[in-house]
Amino acid sequence: MSFLIFWDRTAPNGLQVPVAQAIGAVLGVPVLLEENPVMLRGFDRGRNQYNASKILTDMQDIYTRQHGIGDYILIVTGKDLYIPGHDFVFGLARPSVRAGIISTTRLENSYYQRKGDIYDTIDRAVKEGTHEFCHMLGLDHCANSECIMFCPTTLDELDRKRKTLCPACQRKLEAAKKYF
Ligand SMILES: [Zn+2]
Ligand SMILES: [Zn+2]
Repeated sequence: MSFLIFWDRTAPNGLQVPVAQAIGAVLGVPVLLEENPVMLRGFDRGRNQYNASKILTDMQDIYTRQHGIGDYILIVTGKDLYIPGHDFVFGLARPSVRAGIISTTRLENSYYQRKGDIYDTIDRAVKEGTHEFCHMLGLDHCANSECIMFCPTTLDELDRKRKTLCPACQRKLEAAKKYF
């Protein structure tokens, strides 16, 4: 089984290799990179956003059943995501499908008219991508605001997180890794 990133054409080009390598370093596993072959449906015209939950249902129905034999797949898209009941989500995972998705839209400084560079986007994508992979591995949210498994609701909360797991979550990750 593999850890795969499906990098969508709508996500910033050039970031895929550093993001995949850094996520692999945090997880302690190789992370493979492919161009996203999955059609992203679930567009809501009124919100101008994509329903992340619908996309993961498609992954279950179309992709995972046909192709993935236990692979852990993370889609990285440049499309803005929501789930019903929330204004937006940075990402979403469905552990039962071993699939997850993150959006780079709200990881970019330009979205907030902030100054900064591309390394901010890489850092944030690494944190949120690792977060979703850890969900796929069975980890839940963590109350430690510096831990990758903390669930941020704002960019500042996301930036406060480190690119590491707290000791308790790290132990859960190591336990989960025994099964692959
Ligand atoms: Zn989460
Ligand atoms: Zn933690």
